[in-house]
Amino acid sequence: MLNFEGFKSHLSRRGYASVSLLPEPTPIHYLSRLSRKLGVDIYMKRDDAASIGLGGNKLRKLEYLMAEAKANRATRIITIGALQSNHARLTACVATMLGFEVDLVLKESVPDSSAAYRENGNLVLDRLIGAKIHRRSVQEDVLSYAKQLAKTYSDAGEQVYLIPVGGSNLVGSLGYIHAAYEMQQQLAKLDIQIRQIALASGSGGTHAGLLAGVALLNWPAQVRAYNVQPEKEPLLTHTVKLLSQISEIFDPLIAIDPSSIRLIQGHHGDAYGIPSKNGLDAIALLAQTEGIFLDPVYTGKAFAGLIADIESGKLKANEPILFMHTGGVPGLFAYPGHF
Ligand SMILES: *Cc1c(COP(=O)(O)O)cnc(C)c1O
Repeated sequence: MLNFEGFKSHLSRRGYASVSLLPEPTPIHYLSRLSRKLGVDIYMKRDDAASIGLGGNKLRKLEYLMAEAKANRATRIITIGALQSNHARLTACVATMLGFEVDLVLKESVPDSSAAYRENGNLVLDRLIGAKIHRRSVQEDVLSYAKQLAKTYSDAGEQVYLIPVGGSNLVGSLGYIHAAYEMQQQLAKLDIQIRQIALASGSGGTHAGLLAGVALLNWPAQVRAYNVQPEKEPLLTHTVKLLSQISEIFDPLIAIDPSSIRLIQGHHGDAYGIPSKNGLDAIALLAQTEGIFLDPVYTGKAFAGLIADIESGKLKANEPILFMHTGGVPGLFAYPGHF
């Protein structure tokens, strides 16, 4: 087991630093009414309540990514996402805060042609920040586009830092190892034993980081990641790759059998970014029992999966669950027709 100071100094010896975007731990809330209703204790880690840019999990990745951007003396950040990307919104916020120029390459990958989806939600915030937005069609290879864009800027003398989809590379994932330490300390203070951690997975960095953190802490918890898209293999493969890259840094402290990774299918609905019936029900349930807003793309679908697993008896009633609220609430305003 590696303690938090050991973790940080190990990282700094390997050349990984961080900037502080979450000066305080995000709260852990007990969902008392919902717990009574479902017959199991459910706690929620409120990364949606982080203070910058309306909150969300990408802030933790950006703590590490932006430190690397600074170390590289970058002048401009470029990142990639769907039109309603929370990651793009938070990258734009943080880049602006830290004095970088920022370009968002946004792919029209979600089959929703409503005006709300195409203009509202996160896009309002991206525009307000003044990020340079490049809308690309679903057919286009946006990574190649972003690399070409980066080249154009560097030819003009700029130093560009390119962040991949969801900030899910090795560096970004370190943010969720850090989060595991934060959670473990909070739970110890509250004297709560968590053996089940549930979250939404989209690009794998949050899941991989948490798995690594749980391993470094010798925390005997299962991590249940609910995939928010129908395709399983690409996400599982990427998650395994991230874990093996993290394991190399911490060798020999992390040994995770890839076949033990729980990437749970069946709660994604028709497509990424298209709300599912059960996800919408979960959003309404959380709002109406706890006054907490989930989002239609990630946390609503994951929470629906968690409820299904509780109701089918996959989770024991005497084992408290920690659900990661990874944010995404501004995305609600891209889907007004559903509420
Ligand atoms: C990006 C995102 C996720 C998924 O995190 P990944 O690290 O990409 O798997 C979950 N919830 C919200 C709200 C997000 O924006």
